[in-house]
Amino acid sequence: MVYGRRLEANPLITLLLLIIFFLTGMSGPSGKSTPQSSSPAGGALTGKVIVIDPGHGGPDPGAVGVSGRTLEKYNVIWIARDLKNLLEKEGAEVIMTRDGDHYLTLDARVRLANQRGAAIFVSIHNDANLNRQIRGTTTYYYNAVSRPLAASVQRELVRALGSNDIGIRQAPFYVIRKTHMPAVLVEVGFITNANEEKLLVDPSYRLRAAQGIYNGIASYFGSKAGVSVR
Ligand SMILES: [Zn+2]
Repeated sequence: MVYGRRLEANPLITLLLLIIFFLTGMSGPSGKSTPQSSSPAGGALTGKVIVIDPGHGGPDPGAVGVSGRTLEKYNVIWIARDLKNLLEKEGAEVIMTRDGDHYLTLDARVRLANQRGAAIFVSIHNDANLNRQIRGTTTYYYNAVSRPLAASVQRELVRALGSNDIGIRQAPFYVIRKTHMPAVLVEVGFITNANEEKLLVDPSYRLRAAQGIYNGIASYFGSKAGVSVR
């Protein structure tokens, strides 16, 4: 629904874009900017290809909030977009497996990361449990090579959110088992816990989640380019 509205043509915006186009007189050979062109040359993550994978999408809503009104597939894409912006500011080349409300198979997500030679893969999810009291943050990894990334992301994410630290867990989820690079699956919080459901739809909480994941990634790469979380 959110995405349908965004697709409607707005004549005023079209006119503004045309004016900008003629004033600048250039839009690059392909007519759109690539992630590299907006990256600062000296950023701490320059040259790193990072795949962000917002879970679910399209006909797969992921987990449904305890209120019945919020869906995991929307919550995670906003966190992913904030994370993408932060990473690109430090020069990373970010590939999103999806940046709209559509579904990709798990295999398509993995193939994208493997074919593009990603340095790391980060899948973003909301957790769910029949027990509505359960709340907190968990980061999953599968291969031993992914453990340091999981530890770093979990530490910084919990610090940023002030959430219950469930810790890192090893589990054979497809997207972290089949990817050929350090890969983690982040469960930011429980959409089935009334308090965390409210937080997960709050834009400032989502931004803090992105900042926390970003700080974990920066720290993993040995960079001091973390952001302060407020
Ligand atoms: Zn999920």
